Amino acid sequence: MTPAEPQKVLVADDDPVNRDVLCELLQPEYTVLLAKNGAQAVERATRHVPDLVLLDVMMPDMSGFEVLRRLRATPQTEHVSVIFISGLDRPEDEAAGLKMGASDYIAKPFNATVVLARVALHLQLVRQRRLLEHLAHVDGLTELANRRRFDDVYDLEWQRARRSGRPLSLALLDIDSFKQFNDLYGHPAGDRALRAVARVAGTHMRRPADLAARYGGEELVLLMPETDAVQALQIAQALRQAVAELMIAHAGSAAASCITVSIGGASLDPAQAESSAALFEAADVQLYRAKQGGRNRVMWRGAQEALTDAG
Ligand SMILES: [Mg+2]
Repeated sequence: MTPAEPQKVLVADDDPVNRDVLCELLQPEYTVLLAKNGAQAVERATRHVPDLVLLDVMMPDMSGFEVLRRLRATPQTEHVSVIFISGLDRPEDEAAGLKMGASDYIAKPFNATVVLARVALHLQLVRQRRLLEHLAHVDGLTELANRRRFDDVYDLEWQRARRSGRPLSLALLDIDSFKQFNDLYGHPAGDRALRAVARVAGTHMRRPADLAARYGGEELVLLMPETDAVQALQIAQALRQAVAELMIAHAGSAAASCITVSIGGASLDPAQAESSAALFEAADVQLYRAKQGGRNRVMWRGAQEALTDAG
């Protein structure tokens, strides 16, 4: 989410005068992209994914209607907002455009103030939709992905790993003696500690496909696509150590004098037909072992030794 960045509007019109007028009108406030025919409109929209497309209906070779049909059929532009600008002013044309999923319909010759107002309105709607999507995917306290987001991504990555034959690693992380921390220091301090641990977890998920999510309470889940057990174990161990180095005092911990975490992990062997639920279960078993083994340690399925400060 970068709300400061100007929104992108693609203007597709075969008439150079119309393009110039619209460009001049919109340029002060928005980043304007231009296309002079339908094919170029589809290509630019797919490449730049604008927030809004102002689309001329009457263009040679490919009509605005056809452009919209193609945008709706392409994953990147499936949801892009489109306003038709058309010299056709028959109600049935307007109805056809809206039925195809256009957000609005402006008749030519257009009035500059009306165009600006409608563009501003639709871009505002785009912003609100993005914000809602963002809120629906993010945990409010830690600002990590939430559980719903994790469930969606995990499902996709598991399928991808099975298809590609590439490894997939999953880890569960739990803050040690967190209830005691809250009892001793109060819930606001507990929230701060959880946020600090979440930040450390987030920074250790370095690659674009890696995901740290809040699974519930003081439990986080880490998803590392294309990462085998050896690599994932190293990352988990570095994370565990980085949390200890925060040196958040915890007088009531069963593991140390500061906040620590236990981590349990498992890696998918794509050759085995293991379900996503079974992999999750395996990581959970390892987390339990880490807790039973004295906390502040990493346990990984298939790895011999627990990784603690000594290991
Ligand atoms: Mg035209």
